[in-house]
Amino acid sequence: MTALTAPDLQRRLRQAGIAPTLQRLAVAAVLLPRPTHMTAEQVLRAAREQLPDIARATVYAVLQLFVARGLLKELPIDGAATVYDSNTGAHHHLYNLDTGEISDLPAEALQVLGLPALQPGLELAGVDVVLRVRGRPAGP
Ligand SMILES: [Zn+2]
Repeated sequence: MTALTAPDLQRRLRQAGIAPTLQRLAVAAVLLPRPTHMTAEQVLRAAREQLPDIARATVYAVLQLFVARGLLKELPIDGAATVYDSNTGAHHHLYNLDTGEISDLPAEALQVLGLPALQPGLELAGVDVVLRVRGRPAGP
């Protein structure tokens, strides 16, 4: 696991058309160095470790900006707070209803068959599957 250095983070923000302010870099440092799933409140707590004065509203605004510019995806998992995913490639998720844990499944881990015919003019942009499981993994 290699943490991105600050210049790397600045470059990623600039490539996405985002001016790298201190606040945006603090949020980027929490989410972007590795694939992760975090709620806005978790991001806020982690960002405050680097930038204690960062406002909640600022963190929420930065998250929306990052989503709009393709640096993050919002996960639609019902019953849970919005989760931000820093893995923006095609993949699926395993969601544990008992523990709340979300983990990635590679795109090739499952096949979706029998997609409905789309109306003319529509084009499939992606398929995200959430497998909901219960229980805890058995120990070794
Ligand atoms: Zn994910």
